[in-house]
Amino acid sequence: ISVNQLEEARRALEAPLFADLAGDAAVSFEFFPPKTEKMEEALWETVRTLEPFAPSFVSVTYGAGGTTRDRTHATVARIQRETSMGAAAHLTCVEASRAEIDEIAEQYWAAGVRHIVALRGDAPGAGGFVPHPEGYTNAADLVAGLKRLHPFEISVAAYPECHPDSRDQADDLDNLKRKLDAGATRGITQFFFEPETFFRFRDRAAAAGISAEMVPGIMPVTNFQSIVRMSAMCGTVVPPWMGRLFEGLDDHPASRQLIAATLAAELCRKLYAGDVRHFHFYTLNRAELSFAICHLLGLRAKAVATAEAA
Ligand code: FAD
Repeated sequence: ISVNQLEEARRALEAPLFADLAGDAAVSFEFFPPKTEKMEEALWETVRTLEPFAPSFVSVTYGAGGTTRDRTHATVARIQRETSMGAAAHLTCVEASRAEIDEIAEQYWAAGVRHIVALRGDAPGAGGFVPHPEGYTNAADLVAGLKRLHPFEISVAAYPECHPDSRDQADDLDNLKRKLDAGATRGITQFFFEPETFFRFRDRAAAAGISAEMVPGIMPVTNFQSIVRMSAMCGTVVPPWMGRLFEGLDDHPASRQLIAATLAAELCRKLYAGDVRHFHFYTLNRAELSFAICHLLGLRAKAVATAEAA
């Protein structure tokens, strides 16, 4: 038995029960920009439902190839304007020159947005990332460019199971370090399903001299087949036990919801036992699962001071 395994066994034994969780964790939520009016209504209901948890920030994704440029901007700017939450805009280097990206960043700054999730992105469709001839070459380059414009707070992507384009874990951590050295303040991780995956990554990052906060990205799984497809693309391992848990549930969406909440809450509970105090939820614009998990983590939704009341 290795030192790592002993440490993991200790963490599992000492993990507090849900009833004992202090509610001292920070949370953040990720949304995607809505395509239709109906989706917009659903997103705003979600935003208003999760706002009472007073998240550290909420972020809005950016479509491959900048396809959601205007919708991402509109969503981020509205959250920043109309809610009590700080909004972070995802921004990628795909199919845009530096001048175009700098202009988008300037518009965010003018709209009062101070936090960017800076990403390289991927080419739309298959084929991998191709840098624009006058563009930023990768996320580290983008972070440096944004920092030259304004003192943005910048988060970047981190990969507990290694990005598929990295040669190995050392190469992947070197890349993460470059992004932090360029001015990013935290890593938000790709989703993963076993707490040990995160703990090992955090240990490796610390050993590589990375001291910035690493925030685990939590993906509650309701649609197992679609998660298998997404995981294959981004290099996340789907443990075999997960497949067994979703067997025979295709026609039982309510049960899948309950199982999704149970699994994600268990993951968070074990991460909490390993001293994680900030969780980032991939909400897919739905409130219930993230709400339930935050509640299990001991957080309580509190009344929000509205702009009108203030
Ligand atoms: P980078 O950190 O630039 O690195 C990507 C890979 O390229 C790494 O393997 C790195 O080692 C390698 N690399 C970097 N520079 C070099 C170099 N000079 N030479 C050789 N290799 C190099 N995608 C979207 O399109 N929109 C989103 O809103 C979005 N949000 C995300 C949020 C989170 C929290 C995460 C984890 C991912 C998100 N993604 C998003 C996906 C992301 O764009 C992809 O994972 C993309 O493939 C890599 O982006 P990155 O910022 O990690 O790239």
